[in-house]
Amino acid sequence: MQEHRALFVIFGGTGDLAKRKLYPSLFRLFRKGNIATHFAVIGTARREWSNDYFREIIKTAIEPLEPTKEEEEAFVQHFYYQSHNVTNTEEYTVIKTLADRLDEQYEIGGNRLFYLAMAPNFFGVITRHLKSEEIITNNGFNRLVIEKPFGSDYESARLLNEEIREVFEEDQIFRIDHYLGKEMIQNISAIRFANNMIESLWNNRYIDNVQVTLAESLGVEERGGYYDKSGALKDMIQNHALQIVSLLAMEPPRIFDDEEIRQEKIIALRSIRILSEAEVDQFFVRGQYSAGKLKDDTFAAYHDELNVAPDSRTETFVAGKLLIDNFRWAGVPFYIRSGKRLTEKGTRINIVFKPVPVNIFRENEATRKIKGKDVLTIYIQPTEGFSLTMNGKEIGPSFSLAPIKLDYRHSADALENSPEAYERLLLDCLNGDATNFTHWDEVAQSWRIVDVIRQAWDKDTAAIPSYAAGTMGPDEAFQLLEKDGHDWIWQP
Ligand code: NAD
Repeated sequence: MQEHRALFVIFGGTGDLAKRKLYPSLFRLFRKGNIATHFAVIGTARREWSNDYFREIIKTAIEPLEPTKEEEEAFVQHFYYQSHNVTNTEEYTVIKTLADRLDEQYEIGGNRLFYLAMAPNFFGVITRHLKSEEIITNNGFNRLVIEKPFGSDYESARLLNEEIREVFEEDQIFRIDHYLGKEMIQNISAIRFANNMIESLWNNRYIDNVQVTLAESLGVEERGGYYDKSGALKDMIQNHALQIVSLLAMEPPRIFDDEEIRQEKIIALRSIRILSEAEVDQFFVRGQYSAGKLKDDTFAAYHDELNVAPDSRTETFVAGKLLIDNFRWAGVPFYIRSGKRLTEKGTRINIVFKPVPVNIFRENEATRKIKGKDVLTIYIQPTEGFSLTMNGKEIGPSFSLAPIKLDYRHSADALENSPEAYERLLLDCLNGDATNFTHWDEVAQSWRIVDVIRQAWDKDTAAIPSYAAGTMGPDEAFQLLEKDGHDWIWQP
């Protein structure tokens, strides 16, 4: 086990993301020995907290991981808190002094990881000061980790990127997309590139359509204020859905490393057709949830949620069809959908294969129904694994076809020990491995794809389709596939 040396400076150290994800992930890395003695964490935010109070917060954050008393004490000794307003230049000198002192005390060797767990409008001011106040070191690595949303359209993302690039090189910037830290997302490459049986069929000769669903059962909860300004297109499609599509659609990289994979993902994203505004309504539909009921639960309508405008036109659901204009994928629709308050939480990919060229079986109800429905399903969350649904003969005297499902799920035990997404990404970052982070070119191209859709919708004054909370979206989302002769597949 390689022990990493690093000083983590967490801006927004009192926030929700830091407490829910970062501190537990750091603890997991500590427990496994990835960080052990030569590390320290500075939490900064506006609140006036003492080190002792901060350490109590850390203890609470890692409680679910059931640390022993000794582990807990040893871990929290590495945590320091410094109150700091990121817009105040003078206050950065305090951070610098503390950082330099901890670097010496823990023999860290100048390695610094700056994690901006704050709203993006602060990214520019923070990075500028990291340079001007010389918090960036000359003797170790300096890496910047940032969270979504990365801009709200192409232009704002470009400006944000320019600000950051004045200080950090592209290979020092780690843009988190936590989906890319998930076990089964990383497994897409294993399934494709380690199985000739699969990769040789991975093209428009054999694949009929591809479906990516990112379903949430929750509503907006307490994030109504943020979500109402964003909506599903920017919150889920621009980043997570397009990242998944690029992994599915890319050409095999020459070798499995971050540079090569990025290149292929970027080419795949560039091959996705950018619609004209006039075309948007043939390819994309949106929806907003109305009040609904699922089993014994009743749910309020989106516009009655906390901090949501009563006349809000924000979409809580998006379904769309992407066309990829290259030799491999021409003619194969990639359907994507994501929404809140759907029937269940689940991220799944379905690769639907074409039917055999000739149906030699006598047509009857059973053969007609299933023909052509060989499906490879990749389960990303909450269960993780994959299944292959194929046609086989039904047991019995007559000759009928029936779908047979070969099903594999990782066991709960195996998953228990596998790293959590943020833990994996933090470790990648310590290793300087950017495979599972988003390159600027990917961000830029994703915005180009999404901006047209947003602009068309913003001009459209027609009522937004609604769907009852607890269903799988508005009728229009089903019609989108029906008009192509397809159906959404949603098998457990
Ligand atoms: P939060 O509101 O809980 O925390 C924000 C933090 O920033 C707090 O620590 C606050 O004190 C600090 N802060 C605000 N203004 C400051 C200033 N002027 N000077 C110094 N500190 C200041 O937010 P969060 O949920 O932790 O999210 C942080 C970022 O991560 C956001 O960009 C969010 O979009 C993104 N994100 C969050 C989640 C999540 O699960 N919470 C998931 C994905 C992305």
